[in-house]
Amino acid sequence: MVINMSPGYTDEQLQHIIDRVKECGFTPHVTRGTERAIVAAVGSGGNRTAIEALQAAAGVDSVVPIAHPFKLVSRQVRGERTRVYVRDVCIGGTEAVVIAGPCSVESREQLLATARGVKAAGASMLRGGAYKPRTSPYDFQGLGLEALKLLREAREETGLPVVTEVMSTNDIEAICEHADMLQVGARNMQNYDLLRHLAECSKPVLLKRGPSATVKEWLLAAEYLLAGGNQNVVLCERGIKTFETETRNTLDLAAVALARELSHLPVLADPSHGTGRRDLIASASRAALAIGADGLIIEVHPCPERALSDGAQSLNLEEFSRLVQGLSAPIRAVAMPAASVPTGDETRMNGHSVYSV
Ligand code: PEP
Ligand code: MN
Repeated sequence: MVINMSPGYTDEQLQHIIDRVKECGFTPHVTRGTERAIVAAVGSGGNRTAIEALQAAAGVDSVVPIAHPFKLVSRQVRGERTRVYVRDVCIGGTEAVVIAGPCSVESREQLLATARGVKAAGASMLRGGAYKPRTSPYDFQGLGLEALKLLREAREETGLPVVTEVMSTNDIEAICEHADMLQVGARNMQNYDLLRHLAECSKPVLLKRGPSATVKEWLLAAEYLLAGGNQNVVLCERGIKTFETETRNTLDLAAVALARELSHLPVLADPSHGTGRRDLIASASRAALAIGADGLIIEVHPCPERALSDGAQSLNLEEFSRLVQGLSAPIRAVAMPAASVPTGDETRMNGHSVYSV
């Protein structure tokens, strides 16, 4: 249930509601806006009738059920969209973010060349896999701790915050020490033990959608993180399994819009894994931003033909630079009709106009 406080509510009235929610057997989660506050009563087995009766309490505007199984992730429990800060980079704000870097960290030279190149091209964050989930056990599995140290060095040199994938609870501590954001890969989206541990860590989490997960399952995975105490969650659509074989996955752009409609969390798109084809990455990127994505995560390698993983979907530095330069104009060209642009805020990204929703 959601208890919406009236504008002008007092701190005592809010405290009373929080106390009553606890007495009724639910956990209160409070979001305070500038004028209003929302108290979400979450859990199972509590006294719903008693919560409904809070409609009559002082300072309460309305008490409504949360329509979806995901509660804290639902847009109903927050008045505003969530902004997630990764160091000084804001994800979910007025500017789209572009995260770029190699699929895997392969060497110092490879990583630093990529980090310098993507920064010069306008990327706001660096990505790079240290622990790699590979389909074949004979394929390159990542450099592990050595890669984490290189990512940290790249951040220190370029200033770009770093995101890297966590596959095991055993690695959380080391990754938190070196990286700024932890990625839950598509294969681990439903690894609930991992999610529970990440809920308790202090770093933001990038939660990729599982290749066969519905949007509801994806948002419920995010619910594990929020319910466990980590509010800094960014969703990422990275393509799903369909019958199509010409592309590696099918980038589900409707899911980007839907996740933003159902949830207050920022949503990124990954056109690299979403298509698996470098020739489609620029168009898929433009389409993702046009439909409302809060940003992109793109694989870049100084020499894709030599990449140890995902070379076929990696852009070289020049291609990436061209992609970033070309982002704005097509966005304006396919801008949504005014009525469907919720805020219509026109902002700047790398000197170009971008509509952010
Ligand atoms: C990756 O980002 O390199 C990766 C393995 O992504 P996903 O989990 O989406 O396949
Ligand atoms: Mn990859």
